[in-house]
Formats: sequence, structure tokens, C-alpha cells
Amino acid sequence: MLLIGNSRCPFLQLAATAERLDFPRCCSDRSDSGGLRGKLAPAALYADRVTKRYGALTALDGVSIDVRQAECVALIGESGSGKTTLLRCFNRLVLPDDGRVFIDGIDAVELDPISLRRQVGYVPQDGGLLPHWRVGRNVELVPRLRGIPDRAALADRALMLVGLEPALFRVRWPGELSGGQRQRVAVARALAAEPRVILLDEPFGALDAITRADLQSAFADIRRELRTSALLVTHDLNEAFLLADRVVVLRQGRVEQAATPDELRRAPATEYVLRLLQRARVIPA
Ligand code: ADP
Ligand code: MG
Repeated sequence: MLLIGNSRCPFLQLAATAERLDFPRCCSDRSDSGGLRGKLAPAALYADRVTKRYGALTALDGVSIDVRQAECVALIGESGSGKTTLLRCFNRLVLPDDGRVFIDGIDAVELDPISLRRQVGYVPQDGGLLPHWRVGRNVELVPRLRGIPDRAALADRALMLVGLEPALFRVRWPGELSGGQRQRVAVARALAAEPRVILLDEPFGALDAITRADLQSAFADIRRELRTSALLVTHDLNEAFLLADRVVVLRQGRVEQAATPDELRRAPATEYVLRLLQRARVIPA
């Protein structure tokens, strides 16, 4: 039995949160659940005017964003702009005070914990690997929580996807890995249960430039192959432009602009976005 209630591991917190919550069954009208969604399928993720307050601080102030099927959206903004808070609304580690969050067109409050875990993979900011679990057990965590019998096979497949030979890496401890290998394992863990959408919180932020470039291209390949939708938090505009189909700029808990990289380059909506692009040398100062 897992001891999950007081864990510092975001994965175990997620499991505990999901188990503690009460799930209303009939509180949303699914027909209006995709205001921004495409014609054929609901958005993979949709936040509808989400507000989150911590005491006097408003971390998110009526934020609406969507991630379409097979799309990668980058969430960019300065430290404290609300990126992590918004990301965690999608796996219910954060519960909005106002507004609603939809996964594949279904109000997140209607999803049972098993469905939520199956559909939404998560790479937390620090990778979140449990140091006293071997790599194999870490990667198997979500399939195990779902009670999937062939979880070892799923874990091996996920390790191969991120370029780690299962026979070599399954038995290693997280402490025996390089920073880049650890982040690969964190991505493998998020992919192991074959989610439709993956949330990544600055997954490549702490890596040296060469390792970061390697992982960025591995991530792009994996997304192309699996067609997994992704919401990628980053503070690196160049990374956002490299990996994302669309970029959402957050500033003090509000959406400053949401656009494709091309649109952002051509028409920054505000002075703030213009300065952001200039600082990142995406456009000349
Ligand atoms: P980012 O990921 O963009 O750096 P966060 O979403 O982590 O920003 O935080 C947004 C704001 O909300 C910050 O001012 C942060 O201090 C505050 N905040 C985040 N989580 C909590 C919390 N659990 N309790 C109180 N304040 C919080
Ligand atoms: Mg953050």
C-alpha cells in the first residue's frame, strides 16, 4: 500500500487529492464545454475564465486558454506569473476559485481519479522522481495506480521512447542518473500510462545547453510519433518558439497574448510582449 497522503511527490499528491475529492456527477452542461474548441473534437485542455486566489494574492485572474488535439501550447511568463498554478489546475493539484477546466470536453470535476490519471500525464518542475525507488518503479507508478497488469511493458516502452535502454536503466536509482537522464525518466513516467495530453513544468530548465537541445528534439519526435497534446511551461521564449504550435504569454495571472510564434513575431499585442521578444532576441531591439 502506498503512503500517499502527506507525500511531497506531486504524483502521489495527485493520487491523494483525487482520492479525497468528492466528484459531482451532474453539475456541468457538456454541450457548452468547448467554447474555443474545434469543430470535430473538443479541445484536449480548456480553461474557462479560471481564477485562483491565495489570500489577498490573485495568482490567476480569469484566464482562458485551450490546447487543441495533438497541439503543443507553450505557457510563458516571468516567475510568479501563474504558469505552474494554471498547469496544476488541469490535473486538479490546484482547484480554481472561479471558472472551469475541461479535459477532452469534460468538466474536470466530473472525471474520476482513474480517468484523470490516464488522460493527463505530468512532468513536475523538479522531475518529481522518488529517490528511494528505482527508475523502473518510478516509471511504472501511474500504470500501477491504475492497476494495469502489464505495467512493466508500458514502462519499458516509455523508457525506449525517451531514448533510455530499459535493461540498463530500469534498475538504476535516480541518484545514479545525470540531470538529462533524470528528466528523460520524468518524461517517460508521464508517458507510461499513454495519456492523451501531457503537462510539463519547465522540464528542460535546469539542464546545460547541449543536453537541453537533445531533450527538446527528443520531445518533438515523441510528440510527432504519439500525437500527444501538450501544455509546456517554460520561461525560455526560444524554447517556446522551437517546440510550440501556439504560445500563451501570462503576466500577473492574466493572458497578455495567445498566438502562433509567427503572429507573435509579426504583431506583438502589447508593449510588454514586444519587450519580451526583444529581450529573447526573437526580434531586434
Ligand atoms: P510561476 O510558475 O509562473 O512562477 P506560480 O504559479 O508558481 O508562478 O505562482 C503564482 C503566484 O502564486 C506567485 O505569486 C506565488 O507566490 C503564488 N502561489 C503559488 N502557489 C501558492 C500557494 N500554494 N500558496 C500561496 N501562494 C502561492
Ligand atoms: Mg512555476
